Amino acid sequence: MKQISLVLLILALAGCYTVPETGRTAFILPVVDEVSEGAAAFADLKTKGKVSADAAENERVRRVGARIAQAVGGDLAGAKWEFVVFAEPKTVNAFALPGGKVGVYSGLLRVAETDSELAIVMGHEIGHVTARHGAQRVTEGLLAAVGGVILDAGSKNKSSHDTLLVGYGMAVGGSLLAFSRAHESEADYIGIRYAARAGYDPRAAITFWQKMDQEGKGSSVPAFLSTHPSHDKRTADLQKWMPEAVPLYEKARLRYQ
Ligand SMILES: [Zn+2]
Repeated sequence: MKQISLVLLILALAGCYTVPETGRTAFILPVVDEVSEGAAAFADLKTKGKVSADAAENERVRRVGARIAQAVGGDLAGAKWEFVVFAEPKTVNAFALPGGKVGVYSGLLRVAETDSELAIVMGHEIGHVTARHGAQRVTEGLLAAVGGVILDAGSKNKSSHDTLLVGYGMAVGGSLLAFSRAHESEADYIGIRYAARAGYDPRAAITFWQKMDQEGKGSSVPAFLSTHPSHDKRTADLQKWMPEAVPLYEKARLRYQ
Protein backbone atom coordinates (compact mmCIF):
# COMPACT_ATOMS: atom_id res chain seq x y z
CA MET A 1 0.00 0.00 0.00
CA LYS A 2 1.66 3.12 -1.28
CA GLN A 3 -0.23 5.46 1.02
CA ILE A 4 0.78 3.60 4.13
CA SER A 5 4.45 3.61 3.06
CA LEU A 6 4.23 7.38 2.67
CA VAL A 7 2.86 7.72 6.19
CA LEU A 8 5.58 5.44 7.55
CA LEU A 9 8.27 7.42 5.75
CA ILE A 10 6.99 10.64 7.31
CA LEU A 11 6.89 9.08 10.75
CA ALA A 12 10.47 7.85 10.33
CA LEU A 13 11.63 11.39 9.56
CA ALA A 14 9.73 12.97 12.42
CA GLY A 15 10.97 13.64 15.90
CA CYS A 16 9.25 14.23 19.18
CA TYR A 17 9.98 17.45 21.01
CA THR A 18 9.25 18.04 24.67
CA VAL A 19 7.94 21.58 25.10
CA PRO A 20 9.78 23.36 27.93
CA GLU A 21 7.71 24.54 30.91
CA THR A 22 4.62 22.51 29.93
CA GLY A 23 6.26 19.13 29.22
CA ARG A 24 3.88 18.54 26.30
CA THR A 25 5.21 16.22 23.60
CA ALA A 26 5.08 17.78 20.15
CA PHE A 27 5.45 15.97 16.85
CA ILE A 28 7.86 17.75 14.50
CA LEU A 29 9.14 17.07 10.98
CA PRO A 30 12.61 18.56 10.69
CA VAL A 31 11.98 20.09 7.26
CA VAL A 32 13.61 23.45 7.89
CA ASP A 33 16.72 24.56 9.74
CA GLU A 34 14.84 26.82 12.12
CA VAL A 35 17.85 28.60 13.61
CA SER A 36 19.50 29.59 10.35
CA GLU A 37 16.15 30.43 8.70
CA GLY A 38 15.24 32.55 11.72
CA ALA A 39 18.53 34.43 11.65
CA ALA A 40 18.26 35.05 7.90
CA ALA A 41 14.67 36.29 8.20
CA PHE A 42 15.64 38.62 11.05
CA ALA A 43 18.59 40.07 9.10
CA ASP A 44 16.21 40.69 6.21
CA LEU A 45 13.68 42.48 8.45
CA LYS A 46 16.41 44.73 9.82
CA THR A 47 17.54 45.66 6.31
CA LYS A 48 14.04 46.35 5.00
CA GLY A 49 12.52 47.82 8.18
CA LYS A 50 13.32 51.02 10.05
CA VAL A 51 15.41 50.18 13.08
CA SER A 52 14.83 52.67 15.92
CA ALA A 53 17.63 55.09 16.77
CA ASP A 54 15.91 56.08 20.03
CA ALA A 55 18.47 55.32 22.76
CA ALA A 56 15.92 55.08 25.59
CA GLU A 57 13.64 52.68 23.68
CA ASN A 58 16.56 50.45 22.71
CA GLU A 59 17.98 50.44 26.21
CA ARG A 60 14.60 49.48 27.68
CA VAL A 61 13.99 46.58 25.30
CA ARG A 62 17.54 45.26 25.76
CA ARG A 63 17.35 45.57 29.55
CA VAL A 64 14.10 43.58 29.78
CA GLY A 65 15.24 41.18 27.05
CA ALA A 66 18.52 40.36 28.80
CA ARG A 67 16.70 39.34 31.95
CA ILE A 68 14.21 37.20 30.05
CA ALA A 69 17.04 35.56 28.07
CA GLN A 70 18.62 34.59 31.37
CA ALA A 71 15.30 33.14 32.63
CA VAL A 72 14.89 31.15 29.38
CA GLY A 73 18.41 29.71 29.75
CA GLY A 74 18.64 26.14 28.45
CA ASP A 75 15.09 26.22 27.02
CA LEU A 76 16.70 27.78 23.95
CA ALA A 77 20.12 26.17 23.71
CA GLY A 78 22.60 27.93 21.43
CA ALA A 79 20.54 31.13 21.22
CA LYS A 80 22.31 34.18 19.83
CA TRP A 81 20.01 36.71 21.44
CA GLU A 82 19.27 39.95 19.65
CA PHE A 83 16.68 42.56 20.68
CA VAL A 84 15.73 45.15 18.09
CA VAL A 85 13.21 48.03 18.20
CA PHE A 86 11.53 48.87 14.90
CA ALA A 87 10.44 52.50 14.55
CA GLU A 88 6.78 51.91 13.70
CA PRO A 89 4.68 53.95 16.16
CA LYS A 90 1.39 52.64 14.73
CA THR A 91 2.33 48.96 14.95
CA VAL A 92 1.29 47.49 18.30
CA ASN A 93 3.18 44.24 17.92
CA ALA A 94 6.25 42.17 18.72
CA PHE A 95 7.68 38.89 17.46
CA ALA A 96 10.41 36.34 18.15
CA LEU A 97 12.18 34.02 15.74
CA PRO A 98 14.19 30.84 16.33
CA GLY A 99 17.73 31.41 17.55
CA GLY A 100 16.68 34.16 19.98
CA LYS A 101 15.87 37.00 17.58
CA VAL A 102 13.31 39.38 19.07
CA GLY A 103 11.69 42.39 17.41
CA VAL A 104 9.53 44.98 19.20
CA TYR A 105 7.64 47.69 17.29
CA SER A 106 7.66 51.11 18.92
CA GLY A 107 3.82 51.20 18.95
CA LEU A 108 3.89 48.36 21.45
CA LEU A 109 6.14 50.35 23.78
CA ARG A 110 3.37 52.93 24.12
CA VAL A 111 0.87 50.26 25.27
CA ALA A 112 3.30 48.27 27.43
CA GLU A 113 3.87 51.09 29.89
CA THR A 114 5.77 49.17 32.57
CA ASP A 115 8.76 46.86 32.20
CA SER A 116 6.61 44.04 33.59
CA GLU A 117 4.10 44.52 30.78
CA LEU A 118 6.89 44.55 28.21
CA ALA A 119 8.29 41.37 29.79
CA ILE A 120 4.87 39.71 29.44
CA VAL A 121 4.67 40.26 25.69
CA MET A 122 8.33 39.41 25.06
CA GLY A 123 7.95 36.27 27.20
CA HIS A 124 4.88 35.27 25.17
CA GLU A 125 6.65 35.68 21.82
CA ILE A 126 9.76 33.84 23.06
CA GLY A 127 7.44 31.12 24.41
CA HIS A 128 6.24 30.45 20.85
CA VAL A 129 9.90 29.92 19.86
CA THR A 130 11.01 27.69 22.74
CA ALA A 131 7.85 25.60 22.23
CA ARG A 132 8.77 25.40 18.49
CA HIS A 133 5.23 26.33 17.43
CA GLY A 134 6.45 27.40 13.98
CA ALA A 135 7.95 23.99 13.26
CA GLN A 136 4.76 22.36 14.50
CA ARG A 137 2.67 24.55 12.22
CA VAL A 138 4.80 23.53 9.23
CA THR A 139 4.46 19.89 10.28
CA GLU A 140 0.67 20.18 10.65
CA GLY A 141 0.38 21.80 7.24
CA LEU A 142 2.40 19.03 5.59
CA LEU A 143 0.50 16.27 7.33
CA ALA A 144 -2.86 17.83 6.52
CA ALA A 145 -1.78 18.05 2.85
CA VAL A 146 -0.58 14.45 2.80
CA GLY A 147 -3.71 13.37 4.69
CA GLY A 148 -5.89 15.03 2.07
CA VAL A 149 -4.08 13.18 -0.72
CA ILE A 150 -4.44 9.87 1.10
CA LEU A 151 -8.13 10.41 1.83
CA ASP A 152 -8.84 11.29 -1.80
CA ALA A 153 -6.88 8.33 -3.13
CA GLY A 154 -8.60 5.91 -0.83
CA SER A 155 -12.16 7.21 -1.00
CA LYS A 156 -13.58 3.65 -1.13
CA ASN A 157 -11.84 2.97 2.10
CA LYS A 158 -12.26 6.32 3.77
CA SER A 159 -13.06 5.27 7.31
CA SER A 160 -9.99 3.09 7.74
CA HIS A 161 -7.74 5.84 6.40
CA ASP A 162 -9.38 8.30 8.74
CA THR A 163 -8.70 6.01 11.64
CA LEU A 164 -5.10 5.59 10.56
CA LEU A 165 -4.53 9.34 10.48
CA VAL A 166 -6.30 10.01 13.73
CA GLY A 167 -4.42 7.15 15.33
CA TYR A 168 -1.15 8.86 14.56
CA GLY A 169 -2.48 12.12 15.97
CA MET A 170 -2.44 13.86 12.62
CA ALA A 171 -4.22 17.12 12.10
CA VAL A 172 -6.80 16.94 9.34
CA GLY A 173 -9.04 19.75 8.19
CA GLY A 174 -10.73 21.77 10.92
CA SER A 175 -8.48 20.74 13.76
CA LEU A 176 -5.72 23.07 12.55
CA LEU A 177 -7.35 26.21 13.91
CA ALA A 178 -8.05 24.72 17.32
CA PHE A 179 -4.42 23.63 17.46
CA SER A 180 -3.24 27.13 16.79
CA ARG A 181 -5.35 28.53 19.64
CA ALA A 182 -3.80 25.91 21.89
CA HIS A 183 -0.38 27.23 20.87
CA GLU A 184 -1.41 30.77 21.79
CA SER A 185 -2.54 29.62 25.20
CA GLU A 186 0.67 27.63 25.66
CA ALA A 187 2.74 30.71 24.80
CA ASP A 188 0.77 32.68 27.43
CA TYR A 189 1.56 30.05 30.05
CA ILE A 190 5.26 29.84 29.14
CA GLY A 191 5.53 33.63 28.80
CA ILE A 192 4.32 34.50 32.29
CA ARG A 193 6.75 31.96 33.74
CA TYR A 194 9.70 33.49 31.86
CA ALA A 195 8.65 36.99 32.95
CA ALA A 196 8.22 35.84 36.58
CA ARG A 197 11.61 34.09 36.63
CA ALA A 198 13.16 37.26 35.22
CA GLY A 199 11.80 39.15 38.25
CA TYR A 200 8.82 40.79 36.51
CA ASP A 201 5.35 40.63 38.05
CA PRO A 202 3.31 38.07 36.06
CA ARG A 203 0.07 39.75 37.18
CA ALA A 204 0.96 42.47 34.66
CA ALA A 205 -0.29 40.00 32.02
CA ILE A 206 -3.88 40.63 33.08
CA THR A 207 -3.65 44.42 32.79
CA PHE A 208 -1.55 44.27 29.64
CA TRP A 209 -3.91 42.04 27.67
CA GLN A 210 -6.85 44.16 28.87
CA LYS A 211 -5.18 47.20 27.35
CA MET A 212 -4.46 45.29 24.15
CA ASP A 213 -8.13 44.30 24.00
CA GLN A 214 -9.06 48.00 24.25
CA GLU A 215 -6.55 48.82 21.50
CA GLY A 216 -8.29 46.23 19.33
CA LYS A 217 -11.58 48.09 19.73
CA GLY A 218 -10.08 51.19 18.09
CA SER A 219 -10.24 51.90 14.38
CA SER A 220 -7.29 49.74 13.36
CA VAL A 221 -7.27 46.25 14.86
CA PRO A 222 -3.67 45.22 15.49
CA ALA A 223 -2.85 42.09 13.52
CA PHE A 224 -1.45 40.80 16.77
CA LEU A 225 -4.90 40.36 18.27
CA SER A 226 -6.54 38.60 15.38
CA THR A 227 -4.74 35.32 16.06
CA HIS A 228 -4.75 35.56 19.82
CA PRO A 229 -7.22 33.97 22.25
CA SER A 230 -10.52 35.61 23.19
CA HIS A 231 -10.04 38.06 25.98
CA ASP A 232 -12.31 36.41 28.57
CA LYS A 233 -10.78 32.97 28.11
CA ARG A 234 -7.30 34.43 28.28
CA THR A 235 -8.00 36.34 31.53
CA ALA A 236 -9.53 33.24 33.12
CA ASP A 237 -6.50 31.11 32.16
CA LEU A 238 -4.01 33.71 33.38
CA GLN A 239 -5.81 33.97 36.70
CA LYS A 240 -5.75 30.18 37.02
CA TRP A 241 -1.97 30.12 36.44
CA MET A 242 -1.06 32.96 38.84
CA PRO A 243 -0.72 30.78 41.97
CA GLU A 244 2.15 29.00 40.14
CA ALA A 245 3.72 32.07 38.58
CA VAL A 246 3.61 34.59 41.44
CA PRO A 247 5.91 32.53 43.74
CA LEU A 248 8.47 32.33 40.88
CA TYR A 249 8.38 36.12 40.75
CA GLU A 250 8.62 36.56 44.54
CA LYS A 251 11.74 34.40 44.52
CA ALA A 252 13.37 35.98 41.45
CA ARG A 253 12.69 39.62 42.32
CA LEU A 254 15.13 39.46 45.24
CA ARG A 255 17.97 38.94 42.75
CA TYR A 256 17.06 42.09 40.85
CA GLN A 257 16.58 44.55 43.72
ZN1 LIG B 1 1.05 34.56 20.25
